[in-house]
Amino acid sequence: MSEVFDLFIIGGGINGAGIARDAAGRNLKVCLADKGEFGGATSSWSTKLIHGGLRYLENYEFKLVRESLKEREVIYNIARGITKPIPFIIPYTKNLRPKWLIKIGLFLYDSLGGKTSIPKSSTINLSNKFPNILKKEFNEGFQYYDLQVDDKKLTKLNIKDAIENNAKVLENTKVINIEQTSDHWKIFLENNKTIKSKILINASGPWINETLKNIIKINSNKKIRLVKGSHIITNKIYDEEIAFTLQNFDNRIIFVIPYKEKFSLIGTTEIEVNSPEKNGIDVSEIKYLIDCVNGYFKKQISSKDIVDTYSGIRPLIEDFNEATKVTRDYIFDLNIHNNLPLLSIYGGKLTTYRKLSENVLNRLSKYLPKNSIKSWTDKKKLI
Ligand SMILES: Cc1cc2nc3c(=O)[nH]c(=O)nc-3n(C[C@H](O)[C@H](O)[C@H](O)COP(=O)(O)OP(=O)(O)OC[C@H]3O[C@@H](n4cnc5c(N)ncnc54)[C@H](O)[C@@H]3O)c2cc1C
Repeated sequence: MSEVFDLFIIGGGINGAGIARDAAGRNLKVCLADKGEFGGATSSWSTKLIHGGLRYLENYEFKLVRESLKEREVIYNIARGITKPIPFIIPYTKNLRPKWLIKIGLFLYDSLGGKTSIPKSSTINLSNKFPNILKKEFNEGFQYYDLQVDDKKLTKLNIKDAIENNAKVLENTKVINIEQTSDHWKIFLENNKTIKSKILINASGPWINETLKNIIKINSNKKIRLVKGSHIITNKIYDEEIAFTLQNFDNRIIFVIPYKEKFSLIGTTEIEVNSPEKNGIDVSEIKYLIDCVNGYFKKQISSKDIVDTYSGIRPLIEDFNEATKVTRDYIFDLNIHNNLPLLSIYGGKLTTYRKLSENVLNRLSKYLPKNSIKSWTDKKKLI
């Protein structure tokens, strides 16, 4: 008789990879398949930050910010080789957020996550410290720190560790159909192979509802919005190893971050789209990002300075807010179909993938072998 896995995971983005690593380290029999490259979709189209999400405080998402800040510390400790603290400067802008609001936000940002080795925030005199970068009206500002990460490598390191703990992982292998038998899920792969598993995890990111509907053939009871976020990469706008958190006229935040020594990474936008398939950047998004940068910096850029662009799709849980305010938190949808558990993961951030993975296994604990329940990923380094 062929092997029956404890868990089968659809999707080798950061969430699928994190779950595979955690589960394999608990001696569970794990199989994961991705239709493309591991970490090749949303998980490499991000702003590449491990961050608490300062701006989520405005939406009163204290729980999400606290968990993210705690995870920022954990990820910094377990993944030193691919993370780096970097100062972010918020130039003070008279007609936008008042100083007292930014100060309260930064005070909470410094305190919510508990003890941290990442430097705290401060006020900064921009005309003294960085006289040549910003236009002269931006002479005051605030500085706080977050981590820059190699997002694709973070996924790959999780996959590597899962393999070392005996997980079976299949790259460029699409799941095309899934059936239920009396005691296992039967998973049909594009390469004509089938896999059996007791538990099924749908970690297919923006494809989540498509996977449910077309492959598992179950209707989702959660609505999502697909929101495209685009970045432009330009020749670097300034030499200093600092990033900027720019407040745009529409109250959205645009990041300008040093990228691979010679470049600046600028993003992001928010545009609702209909499909999770690859969507390129629109001309209007390029203009939006360039206009924001040119509003602040002495050096003016144009589309000629762009060396590359990329766009990722966020699957945000529908709660009828405007896209900026829709939560970046994750939720699980656990359903039992004829005694077979199916867990779907909605939303999330790179930052919280490890905690999310731990929570997935805690949530499934009553369906797992008794000796497999201990958490372990917060200390073991990703090498
Ligand atoms: C523009 C943007 C910026 C972001 N910036 C940040 C940031 O700076 N910091 C942060 O913490 N978070 C950020 N995020 C959020 C973060 O990137 C995502 O939460 C995270 O990458 C989601 O990972 P995932 O594993 O759920 O999805 P994905 O990485 O999309 O993985 C899903 C995988 O499922 C696979 N798949 C789909 N269907 C099938 C199938 N039938 N068979 C096999 N495989 C299948 C896909 O190929 C894909 O690889 C950002 C998101 C976006 C869009």
